[in-house]
Amino acid sequence: MLKELQPQPKDKILMLMEMFKADPREQKVDLGVGVYKDANGVTPVMRAIKAAEKQLWETETTKSYTGLAGDPAFAAGMRELVLGDAVPADRVAAAATPGGTGAVRQAFDLVRMANPDVTVWVSAPTWPNHVSILKHMGIPTREYRYFDDETCAVDFDGMVADLDGLKAGDVVLLHGCCHNPTGANLTLPEFKKVAEILNAKGAIPMIDIAYQGFGDGLEADAAGVRHVVSACPESLVAASCSKNFGIYRERAGVLMAIQEDAAKTAVAQGTLNHLNRQNFSFPPDHGARLVGMILADDALKADWMAELEEMRLGMLKLREQLAEELRKLTGSDRFGFIAQHRGMFSRLGLTPEQVEKMREDHGIYMVGDSRFNVAGLNEKTVPLLAKAIAAVDKV
Ligand code: PMP
Repeated sequence: MLKELQPQPKDKILMLMEMFKADPREQKVDLGVGVYKDANGVTPVMRAIKAAEKQLWETETTKSYTGLAGDPAFAAGMRELVLGDAVPADRVAAAATPGGTGAVRQAFDLVRMANPDVTVWVSAPTWPNHVSILKHMGIPTREYRYFDDETCAVDFDGMVADLDGLKAGDVVLLHGCCHNPTGANLTLPEFKKVAEILNAKGAIPMIDIAYQGFGDGLEADAAGVRHVVSACPESLVAASCSKNFGIYRERAGVLMAIQEDAAKTAVAQGTLNHLNRQNFSFPPDHGARLVGMILADDALKADWMAELEEMRLGMLKLREQLAEELRKLTGSDRFGFIAQHRGMFSRLGLTPEQVEKMREDHGIYMVGDSRFNVAGLNEKTVPLLAKAIAAVDKV
């Protein structure tokens, strides 16, 4: 029976990582996979994580199971971090999940339980894993226009026009901040307009927030999410701790279901617990516990915030440096959007052939849709990238 299995398509980003490793050239730059790196190319363990790990090692007395929803301190900390006081706590059901991907997956399972006829609307483009998970689950999807390849900014008119096709009970997947793969984001007034449309149509927002603190700061990055959850009667929020706490391999994420009232919240909480039980029983605890500890301790939290802010400002500086180099090389502001985009990624609007040429001629690796990881750069590699972009852009 197992011999009937068919080969699955390989993940393009993981394939790119393998090609990079196999490239013998000394001067090569990996701007593919979405992992933060410092100026030395290292993905650091954050100071607050190390300190919390030390504390945990000294104080943890058992490795017995947690609850199905995970550590309550983690859920409370994440609720506060992401939602602030946008909605009362008794309207929020929350469960820890294996990373942000786990939260996304559980959210899709939840909406299908609530509405077997659901259609999930995704931005064109979106994080490819959104689409592949939906496909794997057999959930129908529709795309709404999002990124304008000409301007490399959000096509908001196109988005609004497409959302006119929403049916009651449909789910609209939004990126909370730092849109992956484009780097182009909705403004707060645009989030407000989207919430109005969803309410008018009876559709439900599902917000994926995987980069809070990587864009304009922890609070500013959550402003869109907070508005949407306060304006809509029901919503879903999937948050990842992989990037902003630097704990990729620990698999820490949370799914929050925001309900109209406390009675319905209890049912949603039971459903989140039930879904965890069906899919993997208890969520991973180590990373989530560290996050819970950091968010509950003023000193650890302050140190975490300071380090995250350094990372954010570093990426912003690299964006500005790259935009400036390209301004000089092209004599135009055509790539000015790089400094306007936010988060770890920008989509350059180059063709797959140009992306291939950058790899072959210049040893610069980025995803075929011309998404590059800003954090894969440093002061010395920015000019290399700028030259390569300018060279392929002429062809
Ligand atoms: N959503 C988006 C948009 C992402 O880019 C990512 C990470 N690539 C995730 C969710 C989930 O990340 P993780 O499962 O590693 O927490």
